[in-house]
Amino acid sequence: MLSNSLIELDRAHLVHPVASYRGHERAGVRVLASAKGAAVTDASGHRLVDGFAGLWCVNAGYGQESLIAAATRQLQELPYATGYFGLGSEPAIRLAAELAERAPGDLNHVYFTLGGSDAVDSTIRFIRYYWNARGEPQRDQFISIEQGYHGSSAVGAGLTALPVFHAGFGLPFAWQHKIPSHDVYRNPAGPDAAAIIAASLDALESKIAEVGGPERVAAFYAEPIQGSGGVLVPPPGWMKAMRERCRSHGILFVADEVITGFGRTGPLFACTDEDIVPDLMTTAKGLTSGYVPMGAVFLSDAVYDTIADGAGAAAVGHGQTYSAHPVSAAVGLAALRLYEGGLLENGVRAGARLMAGLRALADHPLVGHVRGRGMLAAIELVTDKERKTPLPAEAEPSRRIFDRAWDNGLVIRAFGNGVMGYAPPLCCTDDDIDAILERTARTLDQTLDDPDVR
Ligand code: PMP
Repeated sequence: MLSNSLIELDRAHLVHPVASYRGHERAGVRVLASAKGAAVTDASGHRLVDGFAGLWCVNAGYGQESLIAAATRQLQELPYATGYFGLGSEPAIRLAAELAERAPGDLNHVYFTLGGSDAVDSTIRFIRYYWNARGEPQRDQFISIEQGYHGSSAVGAGLTALPVFHAGFGLPFAWQHKIPSHDVYRNPAGPDAAAIIAASLDALESKIAEVGGPERVAAFYAEPIQGSGGVLVPPPGWMKAMRERCRSHGILFVADEVITGFGRTGPLFACTDEDIVPDLMTTAKGLTSGYVPMGAVFLSDAVYDTIADGAGAAAVGHGQTYSAHPVSAAVGLAALRLYEGGLLENGVRAGARLMAGLRALADHPLVGHVRGRGMLAAIELVTDKERKTPLPAEAEPSRRIFDRAWDNGLVIRAFGNGVMGYAPPLCCTDDDIDAILERTARTLDQTLDDPDVR
């Protein structure tokens, strides 16, 4: 009963993110009621393994007492402090310092946001300010990658390269450019790592030339693994090659680690996997394990100092009421303790089990490609492996797969025309991973038996 009335209230009043509004009104909301560890339970008592950690954010898993205690303590002591007027709070200062200590290279300066979209937006503002301060205001062109996702803000969504975020919104802006993805499964350059890297470098060079040369380009954005585009993992060496090419042109390199940060691929930051130091880095999600909202922009010494010196005595006019929120910062500090107190290690172990189990499904007639790193993975379904034919769009395969997995007791993300995405909490036990794998196999078999999808 309760859930029926909630469905009505939701239909009438709650606008959902990235949803077909009419489709959602028809389908009705699924209300989540409680969660513990890697398991979530809906309002009807259906218990599922959360193979997607909410929205790839609950990296520590649900019900972590230390995170709850940190938030509670901070709410009691000081629920809010502004960073304006030269004020601050202890947890925010300590979190900035601890993050700077752990971030790659000289990313020593941290600006806190409310999430990933405003982190990306903040980088655009900082980068513009930086080039103006350097006396190079003509460096105002931004380049990102097809299938990339960099949030849903009014400006940053133009760096995102998924059509649904542009159509009807007047995006992208003329200064926001894209080069093709490094996608190893469907790359015109073929699957060879060296060929893909060469193709990406050529595409970057062509784009730079097209916009008027390196002296026009402000920054290049890359996710260490393209998340929302379908978990596209670049070949080893790709990030480093792109980073170095940007450096050689004086173009700022921004690593968007909103998904990959905080243990998703193994280490605290995926840039470590590739041994690179970006000029700016964005994070969110795992920073607070999704318990409370927070994102963070990391600035290198050079970027920060240029902005600071450029402003001189004037204020750098960028800020939000909830930047460096003390409750979020307290949770962030507690999350760091969990990650470093064994969760990262557990994630590596569980991730190896997950990847091995998914790879073992490669022989399934529907599985065209298995990819991932650590606790971030996807399998791409096709009707013809030779031709890599996607499942028929008119059958809405992703909706069917999501629903079927749900009924089987598994939350996944279903992208495009049949890509199953995984980002389980790092706390997963072997049993959790085995449940994810067993329910995935069952979902695949049921999809194979579905005449509309073949
Ligand atoms: N950048 C990346 C790489 C992301 O994956 C996301 C969110 N999925 C964002 C930015 C935007 O973050 P948020 O949804 O917290 O605004």
